[in-house]
Amino acid sequence: VISAEEALARILDRVERMPVVHVPILEALGQVLAEDVRAAFDVPPLDNAAMDGYAVRAADTAGASEGNPRWLRVIGGVAAGALSDRSVEPGTAVRIMTGAPVPPGADAVVQFEHTSEGWELPGAAATPGASIAVVRAIAAGGNVRKAGEDIRQGSVVLKQGTVIRPAEVGVLASLGKVDCAVYRRPRVAILSTGDELTEPGQPLTPGHIYDANSYSLAAQVARTGGLPVRLGIARDNRADLEAKLRSASQYDLLLTSAGVSVGDYDIVKEILAAEGEINFWRVRIKPGKPLAFGHIRGIPHLGLPGNPVSSMVAFELFARPAILKMMGRTALHRQMVEAVLEGAADNRDGRRVFLRARVEKKNGEYVARLTGPQGSGILTSMSLANALVIIPEERARVQTGDRLQAMMLDWPEQD
Ligand code: AMP
Ligand code: MG
Repeated sequence: VISAEEALARILDRVERMPVVHVPILEALGQVLAEDVRAAFDVPPLDNAAMDGYAVRAADTAGASEGNPRWLRVIGGVAAGALSDRSVEPGTAVRIMTGAPVPPGADAVVQFEHTSEGWELPGAAATPGASIAVVRAIAAGGNVRKAGEDIRQGSVVLKQGTVIRPAEVGVLASLGKVDCAVYRRPRVAILSTGDELTEPGQPLTPGHIYDANSYSLAAQVARTGGLPVRLGIARDNRADLEAKLRSASQYDLLLTSAGVSVGDYDIVKEILAAEGEINFWRVRIKPGKPLAFGHIRGIPHLGLPGNPVSSMVAFELFARPAILKMMGRTALHRQMVEAVLEGAADNRDGRRVFLRARVEKKNGEYVARLTGPQGSGILTSMSLANALVIIPEERARVQTGDRLQAMMLDWPEQD
């Protein structure tokens, strides 16, 4: 029986980062960039207006005020997406919209509010050929977004190793990219085992239960960023299990649930030992002690416990970090907070215990309320939880008021 740290270290040591693929930028959400992305051009490509107003020569507005307006002749207009065919000569202005390139000759944009268009002067009109009064001086460069102020041509905009979030998708699009190089998502095969299991949608006969695990696990894989493939249910006999495991040869990781404890029909680890290689099969945690890890025909295989809570907790502790590593992530661990416990629990046999809890902030500190009975078959208490509160191996009992570490299940990983 090994520690949780030892188990995770052995697993991470034996899974590899996936190869590089090119995917459409939107599909890359949550994946890790496999190469530096450089800008082939400046963003924005041209100096452009940051405000709706008039493109002017700043020198023409020197000393302008409401009592002393400067009159400029309007010689044209330019909208976003267009280029002005006029250059701004002394004493003239071009009406300009936000985002439109600043016409040659102009070096500033006076916003409407500082002209007679926003501050109605008798006799002023905003039509070409008419004149406009400027009532506030503007410095050169005022309200102009400079070419390249966001991104300089040739610069590295996104580094290899960056996790693609919505902002990165936007940056890639602003560079005109259609796709990008990322580490491939691992394809994760999921197999439930047990003679008692029935596929949801089928009638339930006495003695049977529905297969919950392959669904919760597939959802966990998807949430982690992997591609889950449910292989269905294997019966508790060698022939069926072997056949189903053999059909999993094209995947990057294999998750099975149940069949790893010491009961009469717990044959997953037997097959793992016979057909592959078994690294360990017990970990000093609760829930989730029977947990097998090894390789079958070169594919890493995690044999998760059968109890629905145990299988989910073991996934969180071991499969999720492994999948994240395969995706090229370097932050593999859920965030932990210190929380004040509401409730009590025992730890009789020196394992590390993970208690389902709802962690909330109250009066500036985190409080962890246990979500109910902690039996490893009680999946609804997992559904009520947003955290796992940890009882260290050496603590025999925890109670209300104790400060414990809580692993936050709905928060992303952090380095
Ligand atoms: P086992 O490891 O096969 O002894 O299973 C432990 C417990 O988990 C038993 O009560 C099983 O019925 C239950 N169990 C195993 N697989 C599943 C599953 N896929 N969905 C729900 N419960 C399961
Ligand atoms: Mg079983």
